[in-house]
Amino acid sequence: MTAAPSEGRAALRDAAAVDLHAHTTASDGTATPERFVQAARAAGLSAVAVTDHDTVAAVEPVRRLAAGAGLHVVAGVEMSVHDAEGKEVHMLGLHVADLGMVERALAAVRKARVERARLMVEKLRALGVQLGMADVLAEAGGGAVGRPHVARALVKAGRAATAQAVFDNWIGAGKPAYVEKQRLAVEEGIAIIRAAGGIAVWAHPGAEGTRERVAALAAAGLDGLEVRHPSHAPADTERLRALVDELDLVPSGGSDWHGAAGGPRVLGCMHVSAVWMELQLAHLAGRAA
Ligand code: AMP
Ligand code: ZN
Ligand code: FE
Ligand code: FE
Repeated sequence: MTAAPSEGRAALRDAAAVDLHAHTTASDGTATPERFVQAARAAGLSAVAVTDHDTVAAVEPVRRLAAGAGLHVVAGVEMSVHDAEGKEVHMLGLHVADLGMVERALAAVRKARVERARLMVEKLRALGVQLGMADVLAEAGGGAVGRPHVARALVKAGRAATAQAVFDNWIGAGKPAYVEKQRLAVEEGIAIIRAAGGIAVWAHPGAEGTRERVAALAAAGLDGLEVRHPSHAPADTERLRALVDELDLVPSGGSDWHGAAGGPRVLGCMHVSAVWMELQLAHLAGRAA
């Protein structure tokens, strides 16, 4: 069906999909900046956010590769923070302006990730699972070190069939070789994101995103909620969308892509309307005014 001429432009714009949550080789994604941009173009996205764990190192390389391709690259980051009760919250910083500020603010957290990986390697060895720290660092390739690198290094070494099995048996939360990550307080995370000119969005809140918890974070300066995420049950997506309106927040959504070539979590799979990104930018502009 063809749209009436008067609504043609709006319809086109509404149809343009964005993806506001994805990882690259700068953290635990497997897509290099080159593959990242190829995937975003192949998915027909008008905008894509680079949201690596604790680093913005891939933002400029992705921007350079996307230049002239009609693809807007949103500078982002995903931080692990803890709330007042000590519960973990993943916080996305989106539309960050001062990349240097974010990178410096998270340097200690990235360093702590290396030490944490070292502890996991020691715990694995104590369990009789031999793994060299050098192999983990090689897997990370200079990016922010994470559990997926430990998992992939073990698969490469022939000590596990799949990365998932490594999480299930050893390094998933509560498993024998699991080591907690150093986490900033949620107020610290929000302060870094806002000082750098971005908006703070609670990543994949799911069922944990109760009205009470969202309201507490909103009081601490939270700007938005990731409403659409592959892990969300439809009922939670609806509930979170309503909370966004009720608490005057902005909606966001993305695939949380880590580089898989297929499957349920590929870039663009959440089909987030570009209108949501425009709401975010309007919110930012309003905050500055
Ligand atoms: P880290 O930040 O080092 O704790 O690693 C977190 C990343 O590990 C997530 O972004 C996922 O990519 C992956 N991950 C976490 N938990 C699991 C799990 N149970 N199974 C598979 N992958 C997981
Ligand atoms: Zn990850
Ligand atoms: Fe996350
Ligand atoms: Fe993520």
